[in-house]
Amino acid sequence: MTPDFKATHSSFHPGSDSMAREAEQSQVAQSEADEQMIGLVLKASHFAAQKHKDQRRKGKDAAPYINHPIDLAQLLWHTAQVRDPIVIAAALLHDTVEDTDTTFDDIEREFGSNVKAVVAEVTDDKSLPKTVRKQKQIDHAPHLSDRARLVKLADKISNLKDILREPPAGWSVQRQYGYFQWAKAVVDPIRGCNSPLESLFDEVYQQGVEHLGFHEHQT
Ligand code: ZN
Repeated sequence: MTPDFKATHSSFHPGSDSMAREAEQSQVAQSEADEQMIGLVLKASHFAAQKHKDQRRKGKDAAPYINHPIDLAQLLWHTAQVRDPIVIAAALLHDTVEDTDTTFDDIEREFGSNVKAVVAEVTDDKSLPKTVRKQKQIDHAPHLSDRARLVKLADKISNLKDILREPPAGWSVQRQYGYFQWAKAVVDPIRGCNSPLESLFDEVYQQGVEHLGFHEHQT
């Protein structure tokens, strides 16, 4: 397009230049937002990888722990279609305070108060006995924010899939089934936040019930 033509063209369509400029500006804003999102997610992956570097999952194959938070991020992006960088970053970091020397202040300093708030919502108080912590997760579930619900749901799916794939050493079938039932008790009150994730949870839960040879009793 020659400058002459452009000038003539604009005079016939007075709004076209400013519309083009706006479209260009919104494209720039979008690519800046995309860059920020990738930056935040990469930083969270790197941070979590450092913190969990010496930890392994409980399964017999002792997979590197970092596989688990990455699994959550993957489920949230691909299955749940979540595009909120706060949720993806919080998913990557969700076990750092509970299971490593990371503090909430560290998370806030590195990733901001929104990410910290979600991580805090899904972090158990390790000073409490395990049975109390597990009951608290059920009681607290209906009060979780939308972002925390997504992370919680993905976390439970990931844990059930891991148990199905490679149960922790020494876990009886009864114990595995108990874990499945508890996960369902946590997930049931938060339904309505993301149907693809909820369907996947139900699918994995059902596979577990069949695989573990238990029959659900309807009362
Ligand atoms: Zn987890």
